Amino acid sequence: MGIYAMTGGATGIGAAIKAQLLSEGHEVIVVDIKDADIIADLSTAEGRVSAVEGIRSRAPEGLDGFVPCAGLGPAARPYSLITRVNYFGAIATTEGLRDLLAKRKGSIVMISSNSAPMLPDDDYTAALLAGDEDKACALIDERDANQAYAGSKRAVSQWLRSNSTAYAQQGIRLNAVAPGITQTPLVDASNSDPEVGQAMKDFAASVPLGRVGQPADIAQVVCFLLSDKAAFVTGSIFFADGGHDAMLRPMQF
Ligand code: NAD
Repeated sequence: MGIYAMTGGATGIGAAIKAQLLSEGHEVIVVDIKDADIIADLSTAEGRVSAVEGIRSRAPEGLDGFVPCAGLGPAARPYSLITRVNYFGAIATTEGLRDLLAKRKGSIVMISSNSAPMLPDDDYTAALLAGDEDKACALIDERDANQAYAGSKRAVSQWLRSNSTAYAQQGIRLNAVAPGITQTPLVDASNSDPEVGQAMKDFAASVPLGRVGQPADIAQVVCFLLSDKAAFVTGSIFFADGGHDAMLRPMQF
């Protein structure tokens, strides 16, 4: 059985991923701001360092997989908090564990979103990909929740596509799942937010399969990509969204 690390395992999609990995007999090391093996705030540079150090001390022989799942939805404020956790928290932990994953030819599954393709590239996504946290945060605090959230997930997806070849050369597979609306505390908070609540409810009502996702729907896909069943899959972004992305972008893939 394998040894896996993840962030954001306390609630929602992350809790379902943790439960599935445990049910498959794996060891799981969880980082979160609450209810976790390692308590760390991934919105800060110090928290990211302590998350990586905590995992390293528990898995010195390497990791079979890593899922940077912690994230904030569009109801979080200030907007730059979304940027800090969703992009910089995910990338810093992934990069910080890269050598541990190389040791065991591990698999990384990042969490994007089906909102990632919905906005164009701009100076915000450019600042994210350049690793300029101060600039990205200053830019987004002047904009809106949707740009903060979708832009953070767009940049995570582009970072993954840009780095999957180098990771593959170390034997590490690097993929993402892009969930659609999934019933979690993040969505509950978004639904009651005055800025994005109505748009979230309208989006949920238009899912082609006629329902929102459940955390286990997403966990199943994440665990497939982590497993040897996906041994030839890397650099992929797998939409698990009830058909929304295909409905909205039929000619792009
Ligand atoms: P959630 O709120 O249930 O889970 C998020 C987790 O991240 C929680 O355990 C939370 O404690 C943790 N977290 C938040 N801030 C943190 C911080 N500063 N440091 C450490 N941990 C922190 O939400 P969820 O919907 O399960 O979200 C999981 C992932 O899925 C996120 O990356 C989210 O963006 C993504 N996602 C969710 C949806 C959806 O509709 N629910 C859709 C697309 C993508």
